[in-house]
This record gives sequence, C-alpha cells and structure tokens, in this order.
Amino acid sequence: MESWILQNESTLRLTAFVLVFFAIAMWEWLSPKRKRLKSLTIRWANNLSLMLINTLLIRLFFPMAAVGIALIIKKQQIGLLNLIEISPVAAVTLSVILLDCAIYWQHRLMHKIPLLWRMHRVHHADPEFDVTTGLRFHPFEIAVSMIYKTLTIALLGAPVLAVLIFELLLNAGSLFNHGNINLTAKIDTVLRRVIVTPDMHRIHHSTDAIESNRNFGFALSWWDYLFGSYQPTPTETHEKMPIGLDEYREPKHAVFLTGVLSIPFINAHKKTRD
Ligand SMILES: [Zn+2]
Ligand SMILES: [Zn+2]
Repeated sequence: MESWILQNESTLRLTAFVLVFFAIAMWEWLSPKRKRLKSLTIRWANNLSLMLINTLLIRLFFPMAAVGIALIIKKQQIGLLNLIEISPVAAVTLSVILLDCAIYWQHRLMHKIPLLWRMHRVHHADPEFDVTTGLRFHPFEIAVSMIYKTLTIALLGAPVLAVLIFELLLNAGSLFNHGNINLTAKIDTVLRRVIVTPDMHRIHHSTDAIESNRNFGFALSWWDYLFGSYQPTPTETHEKMPIGLDEYREPKHAVFLTGVLSIPFINAHKKTRD
C-alpha cells in the first residue's frame, strides 16, 4: 500500500488537481457569484505560471514530497502516533484533522509575523477572487509551508495514507474555497459546518484589515469557530465587498508575474485618491 502510494503520488495529485480545477472553472463560468472586473486571460496566465514555477521548485528542492517524509518517519518509528497504541483508521483520521489544524495556525502566523506576511501578501494582493487565487502563493511561502508540514508530520508520526489524503484535501479545498461560484445560502450553511466555503473564505480576502484577519481555515471550518476567528458575513455584500490589497492595486504588482514575485521585497503604499 505505502509503496503504491509513493509511486503514484504525483499522478494522483495531478489527476485530482485537473479534475477539480476544471470543475470549479466551469462552475465559475456557468454560475459566478461576483461579476468579473476584467478579462481573465492575463491574470489567469500569471497565476497559473506562478503555480508551475512552484511545482517545479518543489520537485527540485523537495523531491521526497510529504508522503515520502511520512514513510521515513514510520521506518524510524518516531512521532506521537508511532509511540502509542492506536488503530490504523483512528491514526489516519486523527492525522488528517490535526494536519489541517496545523495549517490553520500556519496561516494565522503568516498574518501575524511581518517576515511571513511579506510572502503571504502575494496571495492577498490578487485583485480578484477565483479558482486561480487558490494557486497564487510566493515560492518562499511554499518552501516555508513545506518545512512546517515536514516538522508537523514528523512530530505527529502521521501515516503515509493520511498525508496523501491531507494533500489531496488541501489542494482541492484551496481550489474550491477560492471559487467565484454561486452556492445557495442553504447549501453554504450546511457545508460550512464542516468545510470552508467560498463565501467564508472570501471574507478573508477583504481589503478591510479586520475582515482579512478572520476565517483562516483552508479545509475544515472548525478551527475558526474553536479559536475565535470566525466571521459569518462581510460588512458589505459578497458581490460588492472590495477584495485584495490597496497597496498593490497597480497591474504590475497585482497581476504580472515579475511584479507578483517582487511583492515580498517591495513595501508599496496605498495610493491616495485625488
Ligand atoms: Zn491569508
Ligand atoms: Zn485565500
């Protein structure tokens, strides 16, 4: 089982990514929540190029991938779950839940620590909110995230299967909860009891600093309820709420790849209106 996962990890992840990406993109096209401001092409080309760069860098610098790390941890018999008596099903379930909790805290730290915020603001500087926003992360943030994930897997002793499920869940979750898709209020209410919905995560992309410090969850919605960072609705309507970072409104920063990559190094200032 474990060697099968290791051999097929990239294929599984790529297949899941392509299926979920096209499903959400189609959904956005058929039933969008917000009106799009500009043509998609340039923004999508830049956000997708950033994802490709990140994928290549991850393969280059972390060829082992998170599942490979989980296998080494198991062989070494380190990590909490390898030290206690626990059924395999319970170990997998618990690991997926706790890994998601760890990512929630990583996200909070990304907003709290100035150095990390420099990297994470690349994600927030996207002037719109759609499926490609879920792929828009600076390579430095991806690297920090990979190291943090490795340490969490080691500390937990998370099983290989749990790490695979978690990676699939996190990637699919990021595409879904950034989708510019119309869900009825009823479905949204039911879903957000367990998972982060686009209406919940959109609030986190508000230009308002109070709102962007709410709703940090990526896959499970529970952590925001539990740790007091939940905001159910935006101050403005979902359709009208301003999204992005006012300091990085110009297309050279907000949209084009070279500018997007330079955001951690540039302290732009909010433009005052005449
Ligand atoms: Zn954030
Ligand atoms: Zn986001």
